[in-house]
Amino acid sequence: MQKIVYIAGLGHSGSTTLDMMLSTTRRAVGLGQVWTVLREDPAKTHTRSCSCGASAPKCEFWGPLIAKLGTRVDPRERYRLVLDRAAELYGPQTTVVDSSKQVANIIGLAETLRDVDLRIVHNIKDVRAYTVSTLDNELRKHNRKPIPEWVFYEWYRGNRSVHNRAAKLLGQPPFQLMYEALCFATENVARQIAAYLGEDYIDPAAALNSGNTHIISGNRLRLSDNGSSKRLTYDHRWFVRSEWLRPYVLMPAIRRFNERCLRECVKFGTTASVDIEEAIAAKNHDGGAAGQERIPANGRT
Ligand SMILES: [Zn+2]
Repeated sequence: MQKIVYIAGLGHSGSTTLDMMLSTTRRAVGLGQVWTVLREDPAKTHTRSCSCGASAPKCEFWGPLIAKLGTRVDPRERYRLVLDRAAELYGPQTTVVDSSKQVANIIGLAETLRDVDLRIVHNIKDVRAYTVSTLDNELRKHNRKPIPEWVFYEWYRGNRSVHNRAAKLLGQPPFQLMYEALCFATENVARQIAAYLGEDYIDPAAALNSGNTHIISGNRLRLSDNGSSKRLTYDHRWFVRSEWLRPYVLMPAIRRFNERCLRECVKFGTTASVDIEEAIAAKNHDGGAAGQERIPANGRT
């Protein structure tokens, strides 16, 4: 049975990075935001560049597909063509990684592709890192400057929705993976992912672009710089920025949700989560610095 690993979550959360990571042991082919390609005008698809280094029309995966995709009306039929192409090129045992993000896509998919083994990974990024990344992208792409509180709220509402919809579809919670854990505890994450998916998908020592990836829609980092290898790096812009500070103080429910997600990193053994636990223990020990609220050590507030 062909397996699909569907990466669900919000934009600017590291989904393209995860997509590429999952193909590093060559058990999977990373295809990026498949649904964006399936829904767009094929004329636009022709102008895209693939992570394999070729233009979309010359890519060995997408090239032969683009013409066929334009002849089918129902996106679900087009999706089947994508799955068939993956099986044809890499064999039916190769997993397809789709980082389309919106859960709505796979709800329709699950109804029509009953012969597919569907797994969902909910990819989530620390709200502070997400906010700075989103603010920069809004300014660069749309010349907009949303208030950070709005970005916080959208992060909270969006991630809760992803979790709830995926849980309803699967009948159990999806595998939740923080981008921070992927970056700071790659080996442990690789083991957890292998346990969830049943096979090794991540080679922590491999370059990001060392596997089979044909991502024509996704973050710009997918594009190769003259074939040089790409390494996993953490987007640490928020360390030296302060836009997240006001909503982090003014929106405690969202801050606590973020902290709960970070504590989930404990299961991955990240350095970051250990520091958080220590910080909380120290804070409670001294009665809360500067009279701030106490945070229960178990995080369930
Ligand atoms: Zn390609």
